Amino acid sequence: MAQRGTGRLALTVGLLVLAVLIGGRMVGTWHNRQQLSNLANAHRRATAAHVARASTGPATQAPPATPSETTDGAAPVAIPSPTSNPGPSRAATKPRAPRAHPADPTFGARRTTGSSAVALTFDDGPSPTWTPQVLSLLKQQGVKATFCLVGVHVRDYPDLVARIVREGHTLCNHSWQHDLKLGQKTPDQIRADLARTNAAIRKAVPNAAIPYYRQPGGVWTAPIVSIAKQLGMMPLGWAVDPADWSKPGKQAIIKRVKDHTHAGSIVLLHDGGGDRSQTLAACRTLIPWLKQRYRLVPLR
Ligand SMILES: [Zn+2]
Repeated sequence: MAQRGTGRLALTVGLLVLAVLIGGRMVGTWHNRQQLSNLANAHRRATAAHVARASTGPATQAPPATPSETTDGAAPVAIPSPTSNPGPSRAATKPRAPRAHPADPTFGARRTTGSSAVALTFDDGPSPTWTPQVLSLLKQQGVKATFCLVGVHVRDYPDLVARIVREGHTLCNHSWQHDLKLGQKTPDQIRADLARTNAAIRKAVPNAAIPYYRQPGGVWTAPIVSIAKQLGMMPLGWAVDPADWSKPGKQAIIKRVKDHTHAGSIVLLHDGGGDRSQTLAACRTLIPWLKQRYRLVPLR
C-alpha cells in the first residue's frame, strides 16, 4: 500500500511539474504573439509616417498621400497621423525584438518594368481638362503609358476611357473614389469597390483588359493585394514619385524625375485630381528627355 501511495504521489508531482512547464510555454508563446502584434502595429505606424512625410516633398519608392485628390468626387479621407496614436509598442524598438513583418510596405507591388525600359503612369483621371492634353502629347511623342483610373471619373467620362484604350495605353484600376482607407474595410467591401470600378471601365470599353490595380496613396494591405489578384489585377506600385500632385513647380517635377529615374523605373505622375498644368508642362520637357535615354513602354 505504502509503495502504491508513493508511486501515486510521484505521478501527481510529475503531472504538476509537466503542467507548470506547459503553462510556462504557453505564456511564452502568448508573449511572443504580443511582440509580433506590437511589431506589426509599429510597422503600420511607420508606413503611415512614410505616407505623411511623402506629402512634404519628392521621394522615390514612397507612397504619397494625395489630399487634393479626395476633393474631386471622393469623400475626404484623413491621413493617419503617426503621432496621434502612439500605441503600446515601444517594445518593438528593443534591439532583440524579432523581425516579424515584411520590410516591404507595398506587399510586393510591381515597382519596376522588369526590363531596361521605363514606364510612365498617370493617376486619378480621367479628367476632361487634363487627360485629353496628356493623351495628345503622348500621341505626338509616339509614347504609350499606363492610366490608373478612378471609378467615379470613369462613370462620368467614359469617352475618355475609350480614347485611352483606342490609343494603345494600358488600364489600371485605382478604386471607385480614391479611397485611401480601402484597405481597412472588409474583404467584401474591398471586392465590391474594385469590381464596381472594373464594371464602369468595361461599360465604357467592353472587354477592356485591366491588368493592374494601384491602391490610392500606396496604402497597401494584405487583403487588398490578395483581392486585386483574385480579380486578375497585379498590384502596381512605382519607383519614382516627383509628388507632382502637390504642385511643386514644373522645374521641380522635371528635376525630380530626371534625378531618380533609372533603367526599369515606373514613374508616378497625375492627369487628374486637380490642376495638372505643372505636370503637363513638365511632361513636354521630360518625355523627349526620357526618350533619348530609355525606351518608354506601357505596362503589359
Ligand atoms: Zn491616386
